[in-house]
Amino acid sequence: MAESMEPWHDNLWRRTARPAPTYPPLGADATADVAIIGAGYTGLAAALRFASHGRDVIVLEAQEPGFGASGRNTGWWVPFWTLMTPEKALERFGEADGGRFCQMMIDAGRLVSQLVTTHAIECDIRQVGVVCAARTPETLKKLQNSAATWRQWGAPVDDIDAAAMRGYIATDRYIGGIIYRDGGQLQPLDYCRGLAAAAVRAGVRIHGQSPVIGLSPAGNGWRVTAPMGTVKAQQVLLATNAFSPIFGKMQSKFLHIKIAMIASEPFADQGRRYLPQGVAVADVDSRDAFGVGFDGDGRLVTSVLPAFRDGITPAAAARPFWRMFRNAFPDAPERVGWQSLWHGHICVPSDALVKTEELSPGLFAAYGYSGNGIAQASMVGTEMADWMATGDRARLRVPPMALKSVPFAGMMSLLINRLALPALSHVVYR
Ligand SMILES: Cc1cc2nc3c(=O)[nH]c(=O)nc-3n(C[C@H](O)[C@H](O)[C@H](O)COP(=O)(O)OP(=O)(O)OC[C@H]3O[C@@H](n4cnc5c(N)ncnc54)[C@H](O)[C@@H]3O)c2cc1C
Repeated sequence: MAESMEPWHDNLWRRTARPAPTYPPLGADATADVAIIGAGYTGLAAALRFASHGRDVIVLEAQEPGFGASGRNTGWWVPFWTLMTPEKALERFGEADGGRFCQMMIDAGRLVSQLVTTHAIECDIRQVGVVCAARTPETLKKLQNSAATWRQWGAPVDDIDAAAMRGYIATDRYIGGIIYRDGGQLQPLDYCRGLAAAAVRAGVRIHGQSPVIGLSPAGNGWRVTAPMGTVKAQQVLLATNAFSPIFGKMQSKFLHIKIAMIASEPFADQGRRYLPQGVAVADVDSRDAFGVGFDGDGRLVTSVLPAFRDGITPAAAARPFWRMFRNAFPDAPERVGWQSLWHGHICVPSDALVKTEELSPGLFAAYGYSGNGIAQASMVGTEMADWMATGDRARLRVPPMALKSVPFAGMMSLLINRLALPALSHVVYR
C-alpha cells in the first residue's frame, strides 16, 4: 500500500475543495450489517444505496474520503472511454448481456448528475458534454461507429463535423469527432466528499484514519480489523481500487499504473480562446493522451504521460504537454504558470473491463475502472449494494465473468511504474 499512500498535498482538488468534516477513526469494536472498506466513489455510492435498503453500514477508510483516485482524477465524467468501448463490451458479453452492460453505462452518465442534484452536492458540476476529436479519417470512422452503437440504446452521443469541431476547439487540426452529452466536468474531490456527507445524513458511519489490516471469517460473517477496533459484519465490500489489496485472491487481477496530473494558474478568459464552449476535448489520435479541459476557475487541468520523476517541478512536468498544446494552438504563449503536480494510480484489469465478484461467501469486491471511474464507480457501487442487499445477482448489470489474472501483475506494475515510465520521463523531460 505504501507507494499508493503517497501524500497528496500538492493536489489541486484538495486545495480548492470546500471544507469537509474530519471523520473519526474507529476507536472500539462495533457491529454492522455491512462493512465497506474504502471511501471513494465505489464505497460511498454503495453505502448510500445500502442505507436506502435499510442496512446498517460502517465505512472504514485508511485516510479520508477521496484520498484515492476519487480525489485525484481529471474530473471528466463520461460513461465510456477509449480503453473500454461499447463495441468491446458487446464483443465480450454478447448481444443480451452486453446490451444490459451498455445500458448500465448510459445510466451511469445520468446517475452522476442525479446524485449531485438529489443530495445537493456542491462540486462545480458542468453538464456540457465531453468531446473526442479525430485527426485521421480512420479514427473519425471508429468514433462515428461507436456513436452509432451508443445511439442504439438511446444515448445522447452526436457526430461533430470539421466546422462544428472548430466551435469546440479553436484549431483546424481536427477533421471531426463525437460529443457525449451525458457527461462533463466536476470537482472530483467535492463530489466524493458530497457523497460521504449524504451517506452520513442517511445514517452511515464513516471512520477515517482507519486502515483495515485484517479480514477474517467470523460466525456467519466477517471480522474487519483496524488498528484501534474491529467491525463484525455479515457482509463486506472491498472498494479499495488500485491500492494493494488486503485480500490475497485479488492480488493478481489488475495492473496499477501511475498517472501524473498537472494544473495551471487560471487563464484570464477561462480558456475560452482555446475551448470556446468550455467543453473538454480529448485527442483520440494522440499516443500521449493529449486532452484539454479547464476547471471552474479557468485552470488547465490534464493528465500527463509519462509519470513524473521524484523532485520534478510542475513546470517541468508540464513541458511535453505544453509543446503539444502549442502544436495545436501555435499562437499560445511560450510559457504559462503551472501550480500543481500530483499523481494517482489507475486500476487496469487484463481486459480493461470493470470487475465485480463475490470472493468468498459474504465478501464482495468491485474494482478496475481503467481510468474511467467517476460514472462507472458511482453506478457499480450502487448496483453492488442492490445485489448484496437483495441477493438478486440480476440487480447488477455487470455480467458474471471468468476472472483472468494479469500474468505477473505485481511485477508488471512495478516494472511499468518504476522502470518504464521513469525511463521514458528521462527522455521526455531532458
Ligand atoms: C490520475 C487519474 C485521473 C483520472 N481521471 C479520470 C477522469 O477524468 N474521469 C473518470 O471517470 N475517471 C478518472 N479516473 C479514474 C477514477 O478516479 C477512479 O476509477 C475512481 O475514482 C475509482 O473509485 P474507487 O472508489 O473505486 O477507488 P478510490 O477512489 O481509489 O478509493 C479507494 C479508497 O480505498 C482506501 N483504502 C485502500 N486500502 C485501504 C485499507 N486497507 N483500509 C481502508 N481503506 C483503504 C483508499 O485510501 C481510497 O480512499 C482517474 C484516475 C486517476 C488516478
